[in-house]
Amino acid sequence: MRTYSAISQIQNDLQKKKITVKALVEDYLRKIELNKHLNAFLEVYADEALQRAEVIDKKIADGTSGRLAGLVIALKDNICYKGHKVSASSKILAGFTSIYSSTVTERLLNEDAVIIGRCNCDEFAMGSSNENSAYGNVLNAIDNSRVPGGSSGGSTVAVQAGLCHAALGSDTGGSIRQPASFCGVIGFKPTYGRVSRYGLVAYASSLDQIGPLTKSVEDTALLTEVMSGMDEYDSTLSTKPAPVFSKFSGGKKTVRIAYIKDCLENPGLDPEIIARMEEIIADLRKDGNTVEAVDFPYLDYMVPAYYVITTAEASSNLSRFGGILYGHRSKNATDIDSTYIKSRTEGFGTEVKRRIMLGTFVLSAGYYDTYYARAQKVRRILRDKTTAIFEKYDFILLPTTPKTAFKFGANQDPISMYLEDIFTVQAPLTGMPAISLPLGKHSNGLPFGVQLMANKFEESALFEFSNELCKKYGLFAQS
Ligand code: GLN
Repeated sequence: MRTYSAISQIQNDLQKKKITVKALVEDYLRKIELNKHLNAFLEVYADEALQRAEVIDKKIADGTSGRLAGLVIALKDNICYKGHKVSASSKILAGFTSIYSSTVTERLLNEDAVIIGRCNCDEFAMGSSNENSAYGNVLNAIDNSRVPGGSSGGSTVAVQAGLCHAALGSDTGGSIRQPASFCGVIGFKPTYGRVSRYGLVAYASSLDQIGPLTKSVEDTALLTEVMSGMDEYDSTLSTKPAPVFSKFSGGKKTVRIAYIKDCLENPGLDPEIIARMEEIIADLRKDGNTVEAVDFPYLDYMVPAYYVITTAEASSNLSRFGGILYGHRSKNATDIDSTYIKSRTEGFGTEVKRRIMLGTFVLSAGYYDTYYARAQKVRRILRDKTTAIFEKYDFILLPTTPKTAFKFGANQDPISMYLEDIFTVQAPLTGMPAISLPLGKHSNGLPFGVQLMANKFEESALFEFSNELCKKYGLFAQS
């Protein structure tokens, strides 16, 4: 079976009867089996996917199939799918079955996508390397001694290794874009309020967004289009109707791009990533675009503000896991207090516990103003200053990650791990959409991403320009 970079190519071949959805699913199932060591999937819905494929093949023959017919997709293990397990890669949710589907899952199914399984991730989406899963590490398919990034590591590797066509991840501080950079695929975080969070296991609710991991901008646009729009179950969603993202006008127009000087001069940034960014900037200027450096002297405040706000929200969100309503209940509990304490002690992993403690601390009386309230003020400044950049520019160009994928165990100190997120937290802190495009290849053989951020709800322009960039650099040449 050939490898496809876009759903439209699959649909073309389906129309010409060169392939069937069932044959596609069988091919992915074979590849999943061959790549079990990558640990990308926590569960594969083999029989169910095959049965659904047959139904969709019939619909295609009848001319009644939906817009995603032929798409075989995987879900991150924090996105609910009715009747299927969801654990957020945590022991505390081991064996838990979703009693309803997330809005995004329903929208994919309504358009005839086939869901092939659920993917490993960092526990409760907390991490940048997928080393925090209760179900083991996910391996980067390019170099198995290296991390795939996190927290949507399984979803990303599933796409990277061709175990499914696309996958959904969630991004709170970079969890779609950072692994996309480490694995050489496209990762997109929509504007906050674009895609429903209903049925997503919450980490930090004021930042969480679901988004796609794909091998083409065309697919990113189509999947975002299908998932976007009003949902009565998520009151943070925009009431504006979502535009049609998947039709690119293709007209070449020049754009105005800002890049943040401090980002490119960051001492932690790999020199080859700097060189590639500079090369792209020069090319863009040559093509007639305006590309200018802007001052944004707030880089040092971003990661601290992010970790104060997200841990505060997480400590509140995760208080629902007490061994009472659902999830793990300790067998050693003897009364109500020991039920809470023992269930949580046994069920949560080290990083999740660290964040619950940190979040509880920054919200506690006496420290609230010093930490939480101050982080909110920093967030406001970041949002206002970022919005001001978008008054003059269409996009902000950034690296996605400071380096290429690192070795397992290389970031033992939590602070050094948190600093991996330095370029990805700006978008969720400010609510802006951002995409990581695999435009870099390091001399060490590993890929790295280049990131574009746009103003709120400017996805159409972002996809259009990203598509042009990918075409320009010959990304994913059709096989
Ligand atoms: N690495 C970041 C964190 O651990 C991002 C996680 C995410 O986006 N879910 O918080």
